[in-house]
Amino acid sequence: MSIQNSYLRDLMDRVTARNPAEPEFHQAVREVLSSLSPVVDAHPEYIEQGVMDCLVEPERIIKFRVPWEDDQGKIHVNRGFRVQFSSAIGPYKGGLRFHPSVYEGIIKFLGFEQIFKNSLTGLPIGGGKGGSDFDPKGKSDNEVMRFCQSFMTELFKYIGPDTDVPAGDIGVGGREIGFLFGQYKRLANEFTGVLTGKGLTYGGSLARTEATGYGLCYFADCMLRDAGRSFEGATVVISGSGNVAIYACEKAAQFGAKVVAMSDSGGYIYDKNGIDLPLVKELKEVQRKRISAYVETHPEAEYHPGCAGIWTIPCDIALPCATQNELDEAAAKALIANGCFAVAEGANMPCTPEAVDALQAAGVLFAPAKAANAGGVATSALEMSQNSMRFYWSFEEVDDHLKRIMTDLYHNASNAAAQYGCAGDLVAGANIAGFLKVANSMLAYGVV
Ligand code: NDP
Repeated sequence: MSIQNSYLRDLMDRVTARNPAEPEFHQAVREVLSSLSPVVDAHPEYIEQGVMDCLVEPERIIKFRVPWEDDQGKIHVNRGFRVQFSSAIGPYKGGLRFHPSVYEGIIKFLGFEQIFKNSLTGLPIGGGKGGSDFDPKGKSDNEVMRFCQSFMTELFKYIGPDTDVPAGDIGVGGREIGFLFGQYKRLANEFTGVLTGKGLTYGGSLARTEATGYGLCYFADCMLRDAGRSFEGATVVISGSGNVAIYACEKAAQFGAKVVAMSDSGGYIYDKNGIDLPLVKELKEVQRKRISAYVETHPEAEYHPGCAGIWTIPCDIALPCATQNELDEAAAKALIANGCFAVAEGANMPCTPEAVDALQAAGVLFAPAKAANAGGVATSALEMSQNSMRFYWSFEEVDDHLKRIMTDLYHNASNAAAQYGCAGDLVAGANIAGFLKVANSMLAYGVV
């Protein structure tokens, strides 16, 4: 992944120097800049007007203390973040992640990615991301509630339905969104669509829960069909067993595939008969148990501790849906050796740059996250629309919108790649198509 244009190469050096010790952010910026050389060569105004320099600098970073009390009365202090990266094409939009690995660099990488992803949806949403190093795992519902209330007590000053609309991400599901929304409503004294991923009784959208996983499969389906392949009869491996992984598994199975493996941060299960998804949902969504419990009901399946081994399972299609940098070069080579013909990223940046290079060099069809997992945020934008209208659409209506958005998105990315001389490279195509809409809006505003 090299950057051809010398201005962009220097810019990358400046980004690295100005944001020390933030390797995930560097990785995300490098990936985008490495696609944009043909664009800035053809349109030097993006450099001359400062668009490129502005784009790599968040409009605003908010960092705050989050004190909360546990069930024993002990006080803990976590860190909260919201990176409002770009409002060029709409209110900041992007999830909140609660995970011990969260620090400013992770939120910046995710916020940066979100700019292009949101642009690709074709909907009017800017890019942002937030979160905390709080770990909801092992906490009681009341502890999670007190944490969420404290987090929102600070965050509510900076967000609003036309300013910044957060959503869920790792560690932030329906329960957390409920606590966060309840506190926002109390503090702001208004009932507005300030968060998405809300419960259906208080303004949530049907099909939002399913949207990222379903959207991933809709996108992958377009890519496969263009190459004369399909999910029908394919063997699929999916990492993770959270929101994205579960609904990717559901849709892949509906498309006629057999999903044989899933994982969590402790290890993975391999069920050659096909994953029993209702059981995974019960274990992860209801009982909040580890994936290892799967083999208690299915003793014929295997459980392996550790995550990396999941990519050594022979499969036709791999869907990494857990976390960043979970699929490295060795994993990519194992997939290639086993005849895998497509990888579609459900998580954000799950493949390392070396893995992406290896997969593309071997001719494996590759769907990058910022395009392939955009269905979640697209449906969040549909939730915002429904909230603004004080109306709701049926599951089928939302799902139809999602399908159309993912199909359009695939064609936009594919066409942009062809237009700039890299036909078939969806990484470049997604970066270019996402960039152009944001950059042209920034040009229209002048330097601000
Ligand atoms: P969840 O919290 O619902 O699930 C995350 C899953 O990944 C869990 O199975 C978790 O295991 C596993 N996981 C988390 N961290 C690690 C790790 N360090 N190593 C191995 N496994 C890990 O999150 P989501 O499903 O919502 O998100 C998954 C990915 O998809 C993230 O990259 C997120 O940014 C991205 N994404 C999510 C969207 C959404 O709508 N939810 C939208 C677009 C992107 P465990 O339970 O053991 O922690």
